[in-house]
Amino acid sequence: MQLQPASDSVSNLLSFLKCRKAAYLASNFESEMGTALEIAKRALTTNDVPVGAVVISPDGTVIGTGMNRREVDNDPTAHAEIVALRAASSAINTWRLDGHTIVVTLEPCAMCAGAIAQARIKTLVFGAWDTKAGAVGSVWDVLRDPRSPHRTEVIAGIREAECTELLSSFFKDFRK
Ligand code: ZN
Repeated sequence: MQLQPASDSVSNLLSFLKCRKAAYLASNFESEMGTALEIAKRALTTNDVPVGAVVISPDGTVIGTGMNRREVDNDPTAHAEIVALRAASSAINTWRLDGHTIVVTLEPCAMCAGAIAQARIKTLVFGAWDTKAGAVGSVWDVLRDPRSPHRTEVIAGIREAECTELLSSFFKDFRK
């Protein structure tokens, strides 16, 4: 495999760098989604719906993580995103998460989409769609509503098959 671009060709060099950048961006979110999936699986031990989230700082550091904790905490607001946003804000001593990214295994609900906007999150990355209660394109589109004062960039469908499978196998076992 050729690791170095041919030095006599500028266009080769440019396409080499472009490919590297694209590979970096794609693998970056896939790897963070892998972390979110691992966190989601921990929720299975408390019979919580397996959803996991991570908050990433502008320099790429994970500063907060959260799993769905509704059952274990008896808290209707303890969705993975809320837990992760609270951990991240607490870690950096500010509620403002401008420039930060949140990666979550499931499309956020209306409450979490609202919290993501309130935290001024720059980018939301999610895996599975929630056709029943999703508020980022499925049922509502809270983050991209033109009336909303804060806009969040949305990237959907990262490792979607794995994220969907984790949830559907949980609900299948749950109904047994
Ligand atoms: Zn939620």
